Amino acid sequence: MELEAIIGLEIHAQLSTKSKLWCGCDNDAFGADPNTRVCPVCMGFPGMLPVLNRDALDKAVRGAAALGCKVQKFSKFDRKNYFYPDLPFGFQISQYDEPISLKGKVEIEINGKKSTIGITRVHLENDAGKLTHTKNATLCDYNRAGTPLIEIVTEPDIRSPEEAKLLAQEIQKILRFVEASDADMEKGMMRFDASISLRPKGEDKLYPRAEIKNLNSFVSLFKALNYEYARQEKLWKDKKVPEKESTVGWLDDEEKTVILRDKESAHDYRYFPEPDVPPMTFTDEQIQEIEDSIPELPLAKFHRYKKELELSESDALKLAESAVLSEFFEAVVEKSKKPKKAANIILSVVLAVPHWHSTPLTPDHVADVLSLIEKGTVSSTGGKEILLAAMESGASAKDLVKDLNLEQVSDSGELESWVDQVIADNGKSVEDYKNGKDKALQFLMGQVMRMSEGSANPPKVMELLRKKLK
Ligand SMILES: [Zn+2]
Repeated sequence: MELEAIIGLEIHAQLSTKSKLWCGCDNDAFGADPNTRVCPVCMGFPGMLPVLNRDALDKAVRGAAALGCKVQKFSKFDRKNYFYPDLPFGFQISQYDEPISLKGKVEIEINGKKSTIGITRVHLENDAGKLTHTKNATLCDYNRAGTPLIEIVTEPDIRSPEEAKLLAQEIQKILRFVEASDADMEKGMMRFDASISLRPKGEDKLYPRAEIKNLNSFVSLFKALNYEYARQEKLWKDKKVPEKESTVGWLDDEEKTVILRDKESAHDYRYFPEPDVPPMTFTDEQIQEIEDSIPELPLAKFHRYKKELELSESDALKLAESAVLSEFFEAVVEKSKKPKKAANIILSVVLAVPHWHSTPLTPDHVADVLSLIEKGTVSSTGGKEILLAAMESGASAKDLVKDLNLEQVSDSGELESWVDQVIADNGKSVEDYKNGKDKALQFLMGQVMRMSEGSANPPKVMELLRKKLK
């Protein structure tokens, strides 16, 4: 019997706002001492009222629209009641039956084969604090309590752990692209819950699933799903088809899942409408405006770069990944009309400099350097030097050619005197070349370059050498 996997994801992504969701506390607590980014509001003190952060709402709807979701004209917040020491309110303000957006889709591609994964909903809620368990105590840090989160719920359209990983990576790219979230896994800004069940291929019925909680990396998402697939596959083979849903945890060190609880004992959250935060409304015009503001997304860009600009698969993939990079690249192409050369120099020279985008380098610099190389005014090594210097000082490419003395000698009189000298000094190599040893020509060329201290225009030198040795 052939089995297939039915997989769905719930993805939590922190929004990259300056302040928290309900108060003015700094949202960036990375490296901060515990409990130094808190106030009476996010600590849930009696009488304090939450006020919705406008930027968080903007980023949430932008992220949702980029995932193809329809922003809802009416949505509201609900209280999700549960008690846990990381949750100072004693409940989480989330969205239950009327989320900010519904029904999206994300396309992914594995080995050239496209699949479309449905997005059920994207809603807005606040994060909880962080607990650290030591040998005989549990430490609570509330810096993260109140950080704005979006929860992205997918349809169970995913058919393999590989697809699940790819989808998660695509969603990370999209959220970064529209600047909704930094989605930095290392800082816990993006986390996954994954559910998986198996069924005989061809059947429509869904069987009880296992939900894997709190996966913190693409690797653990992939490994946990693979593990759970194999575990359930064995149950099917032993004719012990799962009869009830379960919640499992993933042990990173041991690379296995453990049953946390059966779904029968799952929490009843007793949702009810949040009385302290008013519902949200959007007009048709506002929704249209949000949808229109979504730029061309990474996968579409990747295809366009490959097809229209004829870039290699790996170059297209790298350049389409970030908004800053693709915008820079497209500006260089616009000016230079040389997409392949632009891709090459950006990926090999510009990106090699950390934080290149905060240097004074402009697309003009790169386009100018490409044209200087093409004209033979500077060598490609000279072009690289200009770009590196431009990233330091911001001076124009034209000025830098002079300042760095990079202009190549193309004047035939001067080149000829060097070439003649080298031919006269290297009788043996001249002889070898005439006897068919092509390597000797490279040696003579090297000698001319040395004599000119690297300033001779190499193609011109080669041309002259060939002519003179005929
Ligand atoms: Zn606060």
